[in-house]
Amino acid sequence: MYAGVVIDIPHKNVDRLFTYRVPQALEKSLKAGDSVLVPFGKGNKLRNAYVVSLSEKTGYPEEGLKEIDSIKEKDYSIEERMLRLAIWMRDRYGGTLDQALRLTVPTRTEVTPRDERFYVFTKDREELETMLAVAEKKKHYARIRLFTAFLDNNELPAGLVSDRLNIGSSTLKSLIGSGHVRVISKKNRNSLAGPALADGLAKGPELNEEQANAVRGILGADRPVSILHGITGSGKTEVYLRLIEEVLREGKEVIVLIPEIALTFQTVMRFYARFGDLVSVVHSRVSKGEKCERFELAKNGEVRVMIGPRSALFTPFQKLGMIIIDEFHESSYISEQTPRYHAVETAIRRAADFDAKVVLGSATPDVSCYYQAMNGEFGLFELHERAVPGSELPKVTVVDLREELKKGNRTIFSEVLQEKIRERLKKNEQVMLFLNRRGYAGSVSCRSCGKPVECPHCSVSLHYHNNHRLKCHICGYEMPMVDACPTCGSSLIGRFGTGTQKVEEAVQELFPGVRTLRMDADTTSGKNGHQEIIEKFMNHDADVLIGTQMIVKGHDFKNVTLMGILAADLSLNVPDYRASERTFQLLTQAEGRAGRAGIAGECIVQTYVPEHYAVRTAAEQDFKAFYEEEMVFRKQLMYPPAGFFMMLMVSGADRTGVHGTIGAITEEALPRLPAGVRILGPTDADIYRVKDMYREMLYFKAGDEETLLRAKRVFEEITETVSDGKRYYISFEEP
Ligand code: ADP
Ligand code: ZN
Ligand code: ZN
Repeated sequence: MYAGVVIDIPHKNVDRLFTYRVPQALEKSLKAGDSVLVPFGKGNKLRNAYVVSLSEKTGYPEEGLKEIDSIKEKDYSIEERMLRLAIWMRDRYGGTLDQALRLTVPTRTEVTPRDERFYVFTKDREELETMLAVAEKKKHYARIRLFTAFLDNNELPAGLVSDRLNIGSSTLKSLIGSGHVRVISKKNRNSLAGPALADGLAKGPELNEEQANAVRGILGADRPVSILHGITGSGKTEVYLRLIEEVLREGKEVIVLIPEIALTFQTVMRFYARFGDLVSVVHSRVSKGEKCERFELAKNGEVRVMIGPRSALFTPFQKLGMIIIDEFHESSYISEQTPRYHAVETAIRRAADFDAKVVLGSATPDVSCYYQAMNGEFGLFELHERAVPGSELPKVTVVDLREELKKGNRTIFSEVLQEKIRERLKKNEQVMLFLNRRGYAGSVSCRSCGKPVECPHCSVSLHYHNNHRLKCHICGYEMPMVDACPTCGSSLIGRFGTGTQKVEEAVQELFPGVRTLRMDADTTSGKNGHQEIIEKFMNHDADVLIGTQMIVKGHDFKNVTLMGILAADLSLNVPDYRASERTFQLLTQAEGRAGRAGIAGECIVQTYVPEHYAVRTAAEQDFKAFYEEEMVFRKQLMYPPAGFFMMLMVSGADRTGVHGTIGAITEEALPRLPAGVRILGPTDADIYRVKDMYREMLYFKAGDEETLLRAKRVFEEITETVSDGKRYYISFEEP
């Protein structure tokens, strides 16, 4: 017998199957997916490898083949389904099979799962309420959070309390010392296997009609993928909980993906309250060992609902029944590391192997997915109302900044916003100010000539790092922080980058004595920077939180009643066909941050283009209206999902040569392209120089995929004759 194996080294040269002889002793026991040791390379060093296929025959001469050394008994075998998923990911996203396997099989050493630790409140409810009242009086915010959580649930998972509730160890120590809190470890009670919910677990509210429809529809649909579209607070999470209940009843398991930043204590506790310790969570602050333990529990079927960001998708459930992806439009679902997989696509692939359902939830669905739903490829369920009767959407006011200028107001804040901030501060409520801008954070520029300090090899600004060095995020080039401007020699050099700093200064000037916090790439660069800022703001150690997109995602701050969006259009001016979509998503999300349960919130949107449909429809919180206008634009310009496009990139060390080459290709292609193809460019790439290579692009678009591929073939034929492979690189890229 012969085995095809992959060698466990992430290198392109070994990214193929190697054939080994299977020793007789192993013939019976060896399976695809087994982890084995094989002699490899000149020195026949023993290497880890995975068996991918087994066969009786081989095309190789017998004597040239080496033999598998042994099965690594302590190690896991990869399940065949995971192996197939890894192969699919490698084919779809590039990288090596080994890299894909590292993702899909992160557990490679055997672990004995430990019991989970819980904090238990030991006294009765009356005492808890008294203690909560005292904490409120003394403004002990950490205690207020902890006691409020105990009101809902007498036992709280220890990991969540420190990580997600942001409760420091001193608070807990003193409560444990005084006997109010006890730590217990316990085994899983695995209570939901039967038809009935276990005692002591919360039951949800009765679903409203739209919610009930969604649950019924998703479970009954013959389409495996459904979109659940509902405004913030419309009860999507409640729908997820009900779906999970049904899937668990069938004896199956569920993965729930939630963007890391939205994975708050309150959210996770809702799942715990409903399903007890059948639920487990993984996220970036869970150690590798713990993650292995939790995955192992999932594999054994002790944990049956796994919640986490992107990587929870690879939880090794054996009877997967459903994958739920909340806020599925979020860019954090696309991996930044090789393989650069898209969690939504990968989830659909993984679910197909189990005949499982996929539920994609969002208040602002991805336009392309929504289009697929409209075409009947995905199920579509919509929730139009807030679930809590009487709860209202925040009141949104759009302010035209051009009018402010006419009035002579040159500050960052419109008169209305200033007034509203003052009002809220007086009432001791909190305010968030959102600067809709990304990029440039951490860059260094000259106040005299205005030039940023750029990488000598790439057309991007260097980033300042805390060790007083400047670094290129593209090629890794590093140099010490400069004390004079490399362009004009001025010593007025500094880090401004974010703009949030300027906003902070302006707030302090306008409202003397105001306590501000800033959340951006600068202030969160430390290990716990992000957490610390959230904790401080939760503890009301600041009145105003200023930040970039980080502040509009995730955390609900109960006391925030005003959200100011300072410049709504900044994200519109980005050269990307999805700029309006991103803007709509960000604005809608930001608006949803103001005013939570009970307190009415308000949002001020400042903009230079109040008439732009993305701004207008976001202010009305009307996704449908946005979608319709956006599709008109996409159809007109043949952008996805209404059309298809591709980029042809020419790069080389000689800028004139690159320009000439792409020009020649374009000229030759034009008369030969199929009818209906449109081209854009050639033009410099966004980042026109990378590692000393200049880059120009040509976009070509078509209304259907067939035509686009025909156009691609025309370009391929031409580039073969035009290109001098040694000097210019020509590549095709999909958006
Ligand atoms: P979303 O996930 O869409 O933001 P949630 O599921 O968090 O919405 O629901 C928002 C609030 O409404 C929560 O406090 C939830 O408990 C409550 N809620 C959800 N569904 C119902 C319902 N059918 N009846 C009463 N309250 C509900
Ligand atoms: Zn200068
Ligand atoms: Zn560089």
